[in-house]
Amino acid sequence: MIFKRTMATSKLATNITHVLSCLSKQQSTTMLGHFSGKYDPWRILIGTILSARARDEVTEQVCEVLFNKYPTVEALAGAKQQDIEQCIQRIGFYHTKARNIIKTSKIVIQQHHGSVPGTMDDLLTLPGVGRKVAGCVLVYAFQKDAIPVDTHVHRISNRLGWVRTKAPEQTEQRLMKIVPKKNWQVVNDCLVSHGKKICKPIQPLCHSCCIERYCKKVGIHKKKINWQKNKK
Ligand code: SF4
Repeated sequence: MIFKRTMATSKLATNITHVLSCLSKQQSTTMLGHFSGKYDPWRILIGTILSARARDEVTEQVCEVLFNKYPTVEALAGAKQQDIEQCIQRIGFYHTKARNIIKTSKIVIQQHHGSVPGTMDDLLTLPGVGRKVAGCVLVYAFQKDAIPVDTHVHRISNRLGWVRTKAPEQTEQRLMKIVPKKNWQVVNDCLVSHGKKICKPIQPLCHSCCIERYCKKVGIHKKKINWQKNKK
């Protein structure tokens, strides 16, 4: 029984490695992937807080403006909330986000000597930082092993048949058990990019999907796939 379970786990791990390898070869990186080569950890942290429920194009533009005006953690910590709000008002929840990024910058200065902390526990103490944002900072700013789970990662992991979970937090816990650790850092980038272009929430483009042969299509109705096929 234990032998069978071990075999199944190792087959799944191999399947996951194939999927991630296909996706990394076929797709361009995400906005946070670009941030990783462009910004320091503090800018990545602030950019990730701002990106929640915001379109990538808007987040990128707002970050440019914000970081030009407030180029250091000290400058942002000393800013007036209404000035920050004016700067980021194209982004949803900008009142709360303005408050959070000022408070976060103050804590980074007061408790971490001006440097963004590099552990999940320390990141979770910062305002506006939940497990997803913290995981993104670990992966994209520090190249540390974490699996940040957003709506795309949660949806696609379930469709592929890797997990059967109801909430992103459960998906993260399950993925950390089944994804080989050497692959943790690419899970978010691969699945977010795939979710935006191919495995969309309402109408996944299964017939243009490079990982179709690995996918169990859990919850995908045949009718929807045939409709897309005919449309092609
Ligand atoms: S085959 Fe369809 S459901 Fe599966 S990953 Fe590709 S687009 Fe998503």
